[in-house]
Amino acid sequence: MSQLPILVSGAGIGGLTTALCLAARGFRVNLVEKRTRLEEVGAGLQLSPNASHILIGLGLGKALSRAACAPLSLDVRQGKTSALLARAPLGNMQNRFGAPYWVIHRADLQQILLDHVRGTAGITMQFGRSLAAMAQTAQGLEITLSGTNQHETMLAHAVIGADGLHSDMAMLLGDTSKAKPSGYQAWRGTLPMSAVHPGYEPQRTTLYLGPQVHAVTYPIRGGEQFNLVLVTREKNHEAGWSRMGDAAKLHHALKNWNTLLPLIRQMPDWQVWSLYDRAPRSRWSYGPVTLLGDAAHPVLPFMAQGAALAIEDAATLAHLLAQTPDTPSQAFARYQQLRLPRATRVQQTARKNGSVYHLPFPLSLARDAVIRRKNEHLLDDYDWLYGWTMQG
Ligand SMILES: Cc1cc2nc3c(=O)[nH]c(=O)nc-3n(C[C@H](O)[C@H](O)[C@H](O)COP(=O)(O)OP(=O)(O)OC[C@H]3O[C@@H](n4cnc5c(N)ncnc54)[C@H](O)[C@@H]3O)c2cc1C
Repeated sequence: MSQLPILVSGAGIGGLTTALCLAARGFRVNLVEKRTRLEEVGAGLQLSPNASHILIGLGLGKALSRAACAPLSLDVRQGKTSALLARAPLGNMQNRFGAPYWVIHRADLQQILLDHVRGTAGITMQFGRSLAAMAQTAQGLEITLSGTNQHETMLAHAVIGADGLHSDMAMLLGDTSKAKPSGYQAWRGTLPMSAVHPGYEPQRTTLYLGPQVHAVTYPIRGGEQFNLVLVTREKNHEAGWSRMGDAAKLHHALKNWNTLLPLIRQMPDWQVWSLYDRAPRSRWSYGPVTLLGDAAHPVLPFMAQGAALAIEDAATLAHLLAQTPDTPSQAFARYQQLRLPRATRVQQTARKNGSVYHLPFPLSLARDAVIRRKNEHLLDDYDWLYGWTMQG
């Protein structure tokens, strides 16, 4: 095996998990992150069994089970009346797929991953660094890293771009295609659980459906906080990762949502994200360089699978690299071949879910009738997603 490290660019959920998966297979890893520290961005994140079983396999199970919650069910309700359309069990995921369905604060997951990265021999992590240039030489990939004041060069055995939706790595590889505003925006807020009336059944994951808007609620922080995400249509796109939301707009849009509105009014502030979408990239791997997570395949959050896919990517990459450690280009070509069809399927299903969730009346009546009929079997069609196992 080469003595040179593998460079991972980007320390989001994808990059941190990749570093841990590679180190577990005996590779040396250099993880570089453009930001000078990891910030507490976002709120809740759903971690389905296809992702949680990988993280448990990395030894994170204890820490995660303390920070996460395992909701009893996925409830689907009408937004306006709160009438229950379906209740599908989530508590049985451990038995069905060998791992739990967790919900967790994104910052908690990121911190747990970071703590493990810091405690793992073989991973060097640098904040405030990004990859400025790379060139293939006889000794390996010569990498130029730029920092606040200085440039440094290093040799790497392979490079993995885990640098998110607007990937600089993809640009460096010549893919200049851009993610586009999807026309959706997500509003996210949290409340202490003590402020939530028990009538809301906050220990369940609940999806509320209305015309041109939907909401998802679930507990986070070991059940101490209540997480609420609302997705609305966005008329005028505003650039930027997240911003504070104008609550009055939300109160007006949901004025008939009798059950959820009091909770929405209680929310002290809202973070708003414009959601981006892109056609699936046709190529992720370029010899000993590849892309992973949102850099390769951003997914609209209507299946709660973006981070889960990044975690699956990380495990697959490490598994394949361990098979042909001296020829990363071979491993990366196989990785693309195995992962691209699945990521594309998730991207397309998520896009379709967005349209179905937001159907106007009277089309929503047919949708609700189908959901009612499926009831506890609502998630039965998702074995292909939650029952994922390593291939290759
Ligand atoms: C509203 C919303 C709800 C979501 N809910 C869920 C959910 O419930 N479940 C789920 O699985 N997914 C969910 N997702 C998707 C999930 O958040 C993303 O898919 C996931 O975070 C992608 O991780 P990543 O590591 O690939 O990218 P990112 O998290 O974007 O990380 C990329 C990292 O790279 C760094 N970086 C950027 N450029 C450079 C550079 N040039 N050099 C070095 N570093 C760089 C960035 O600073 C960042 O730290 C949701 C997304 C949204 C918007």
